[in-house]
Amino acid sequence: MREVGEISVVGGGLAGVEVAWQLAEGGSIVRLVEMKPLERSPAHKSDLLAELVCSNSLRSNNPNNAVGLLKREMARLGSIVIRCAEQTQVPAGDALAVNRADFSAAVTRAISEHPRIRRQTRCIVDLPACEPHVVATGPLTAAALARDIAEKTGSDRMFFYDAIAPIVSGDSIDRDIVFAASRYGKGDGDDYLNCPLGKDEYESFIDSLLAAECMPLHDFEEPKYFAGCMPVEVVAADGRESLRFGTMKPVGLTDPRTGRRPYAVVQLRQEDKAGQSFNLVGFQTKLKHPDQRHVFRMIPGLHNAEFLRLGGVHRNTFIDAPALLDERMRLRGHEHVRLAGQLTGVEGYVESAAHGLLVGYLYARELAGKEVVPPPPETALGALYEHVRGNLRLPNRPYEPQNINWGMFPPPPPEVRKREVKQARADRAIKVFAAWAAEQGLDSST
Ligand SMILES: Cc1cc2nc3c(=O)[nH]c(=O)nc-3n(C[C@H](O)[C@H](O)[C@H](O)COP(=O)(O)OP(=O)(O)OC[C@H]3O[C@@H](n4cnc5c(N)ncnc54)[C@H](O)[C@@H]3O)c2cc1C
Repeated sequence: MREVGEISVVGGGLAGVEVAWQLAEGGSIVRLVEMKPLERSPAHKSDLLAELVCSNSLRSNNPNNAVGLLKREMARLGSIVIRCAEQTQVPAGDALAVNRADFSAAVTRAISEHPRIRRQTRCIVDLPACEPHVVATGPLTAAALARDIAEKTGSDRMFFYDAIAPIVSGDSIDRDIVFAASRYGKGDGDDYLNCPLGKDEYESFIDSLLAAECMPLHDFEEPKYFAGCMPVEVVAADGRESLRFGTMKPVGLTDPRTGRRPYAVVQLRQEDKAGQSFNLVGFQTKLKHPDQRHVFRMIPGLHNAEFLRLGGVHRNTFIDAPALLDERMRLRGHEHVRLAGQLTGVEGYVESAAHGLLVGYLYARELAGKEVVPPPPETALGALYEHVRGNLRLPNRPYEPQNINWGMFPPPPPEVRKREVKQARADRAIKVFAAWAAEQGLDSST
């Protein structure tokens, strides 16, 4: 039986437990609905909540790293995931890695013992008609619910695969080598940065690409790719020239340094409004991360590239959040339903938990009749929020899942020296977050 005022949270993964915890800590009665062990996705094996389906690492703990900063902000807001991760930590240098089973057991215990959280085992097959729900069913949302969301939101707004190309930071691109131009001068004439390759450079690049190792497929993934999102190494394996006649074709481009058309070209497209990040167009890939860094740094102009995001092709259910969600993460036209976690287009354990925490925190404040002000864009939680709102991307650019990275933060003032940029962004984030937390009335000791 549903209690009056009860809020249902669907999905007991990293995002769902954070939503439930924040709401319950804020005084709400919460029903946390999880389908395991009744049903489970092909990646979930354990019966516990907050299962880490692959690696046991929550990545860097260093606050000078964007994900380290994000965890620090989460801890300040009372994250149950961070608390349990710290309790079950195993040695991993400056990363926060956990004993996977102990971590999930600690979260499960905390949730089960919370006096205002009731647990229910059930697979939700459709969005509710009116009761308040937060849906956090993740990248492998059960098929019936995913179908229902797609039907209610429009199938062109829901995605089941993720084919993403690497993104490099703008200030790590060698501007003495790359040149700005669009093919045949279309658009504004200089919409892309172009990395020119001579014949020898192209041949060595193809050799390395073909020799590089790919990430293994999960047993529930098929190596079946859609045209237009074929991994770059799969295209290259089709014939040494296939990239030069496709993604890397040089037609319509003249290198101003030589006055000639290069043998091949890698185009970089500006990714964010501030021009801090650039996407390697058509370079979606399943190469292992170290191999991506090695092979893509062979591209002229990218020898010192800093990768803000590495490429990937994997199963991932997510929605076009900027189009479908309002500023409180409510589903437009179904405002009693909010969405949280990876389903909204954040990527990664920490980001999914962080997004869940933020949705739960802001919802709890709303229910308490307090002012609802998201963390400012200069903070890590704020940057993640801005990403989901679609405020960081250029107009007409498709919405793509993102890990937290410095390219999502506003640029520091121009007078900051290049080698001090990261530190300046981290210092500013800490200061701005502290001011926001004080305005929220958060105890500075927490
Ligand atoms: C195979 C795979 C490997 C990954 N590896 C990593 C990694 O190594 N590192 C990393 O940082 N990120 C990784 N990710 C990405 C991702 O961040 C995690 O999947 C993360 O757990 C997402 O958090 P979430 O809470 O949004 O979803 P989940 O943690 O998946 O939680 C969703 C929960 O909802 C439940 N559920 C689903 N549908 C229903 C329904 N209809 N009714 C009731 N319950 C339902 C599920 O059983 C699950 O418990 C991986 C993703 C996948 C798919």
